Amino acid sequence: MAIQVTRTYVASIRNQQQVKSDLDSLGFAASKLWNIARWTCDRIWSETGTIPEDGPLKAYLKTHERYADLNSQSSQRVIEELAEAFKGWYAKRRNGDDRANPPKYRKHNGDHPRSTVTFKEDGFKHDSKNNRIRLSKGRNLKEHWSDFILCEIEAESPGNETAGIDLGIKNLAAVSYSTGDHELYPGNALKTDERYFAKEIAKCNSSRSNKALWLRRKRSERRSHYLHAVTRHIVEECVERGVGTIAVGNLEGIREDDETGEVRNWGDRGNEGLHRWAFDRFTNLLTYKAKAEGIAVVVVSERDTSKTCSCCGQKRDANRVERGLYVCRGCNAVMNADSNGAENIRCRLDQAEKVTLSPRSSEDRSSGRVARPVVNLFRRGEHDPSCGQGTFAEQASICEP
Ligand SMILES: [Zn+2]
Repeated sequence: MAIQVTRTYVASIRNQQQVKSDLDSLGFAASKLWNIARWTCDRIWSETGTIPEDGPLKAYLKTHERYADLNSQSSQRVIEELAEAFKGWYAKRRNGDDRANPPKYRKHNGDHPRSTVTFKEDGFKHDSKNNRIRLSKGRNLKEHWSDFILCEIEAESPGNETAGIDLGIKNLAAVSYSTGDHELYPGNALKTDERYFAKEIAKCNSSRSNKALWLRRKRSERRSHYLHAVTRHIVEECVERGVGTIAVGNLEGIREDDETGEVRNWGDRGNEGLHRWAFDRFTNLLTYKAKAEGIAVVVVSERDTSKTCSCCGQKRDANRVERGLYVCRGCNAVMNADSNGAENIRCRLDQAEKVTLSPRSSEDRSSGRVARPVVNLFRRGEHDPSCGQGTFAEQASICEP
């Protein structure tokens, strides 16, 4: 299975004294280039009445002397940032924000505040063996042709632990950690909401009435709020356990509970739109929040993950899900069915990445925490579903009834 992982490293520079002035001159050069591009925009605006996009602006400034103070990819990025700032300004104006200002010059009392410099593949070399990063200077700032800035870094490497997430309806998320912990995020908060709003919207005279529009907006705010809260909580738990990679099972259409035939996945018939939406939104929020902590998120296939026993690894026809419990006839394991799925999803990652984990006996898995995951209950104003605030209360659970 080919899984590509993009990982964010946060590192600090150890030889600051040696590289300080070099880095400072790059930040200074970026501010100067920004100002030149900003001034060019003003000039083109007064001549043509339009502000150029980043493409023409880059082409135009490419031959400017200051462009070669930085590596060309770094210079390009400065101009892209300016174009993005202009776009942000237009958008605000379009939305009626008259007080929004166009991007400013980077000058302060004759001084230039330093700008952020971005290095892409051409200007950046990571020597992971020696913990060094090589940063390119522009042609103008080089003392000789092979001149570069050599930073010694100390990377906060993400942990080696892994987590697997199974998304569903009964439990919005079941999380299984390589540390042996298991957690559940019941889906009832979302379900109660859906029912409440569907009922209220049905009561409205017209689906386009103000009341109906307000209810819809409120519903979507609350969905978002809930997904934010769950993903934030999961990432915090991952940080605490030293997780470096999270696997999320990808939806592959409708999945039915073997026993009851009840649809238990987000690909539910009548409401497929919402469920697909919730899955995508969940995955996006999780990825974004995890990235900030240097944790990678990968989506893996969830095929057969609900049918396979995570303890003995076998898929038997005799194995079944009874009242939310996965029962293995082979090794006699009894586990929460969603936790079993999450553990199988996590294992896909281990297989693919060959992450070595401290060995754990199957006895550990079946007798302990898989069977009794921690349930994170989302509590908010029970009597007033329109109250959007909520917090998680951890609850050591018995098996889901
Ligand atoms: Zn088994």
